[in-house]
Amino acid sequence: MENKMYARQAFKCSVCGQEYDNAMNRAHCELNCIRKQEEEAKKAAYLKKKEEQDARHKEVVEAYDRFHELLEKYTADYGTFVLNSNVDVPTFSKLIDHFWF
Ligand SMILES: [Zn+2]
Repeated sequence: MENKMYARQAFKCSVCGQEYDNAMNRAHCELNCIRKQEEEAKKAAYLKKKEEQDARHKEVVEAYDRFHELLEKYTADYGTFVLNSNVDVPTFSKLIDHFWF
């Protein structure tokens, strides 16, 4: 005996709301929708991280440009730039080499 209530029942995807005439198709849709959501979340997280990294990179480049500009002005006016004794000179030189060469 056919259950008329069951026969007219719509199977709605709980994610996108698409309606199907059977539970199997709804289940497939829900699986696909959930996978899509997960992919979108991963992509969004990747883009957010990339954006943060780009912003930090820009910050370093700007600081370096400013540093370079100050150092050039200083050496033009005073000859040699000498770090105070509290600064680790080899580390500083390494940093300069890293950027200049
Ligand atoms: Zn769906």
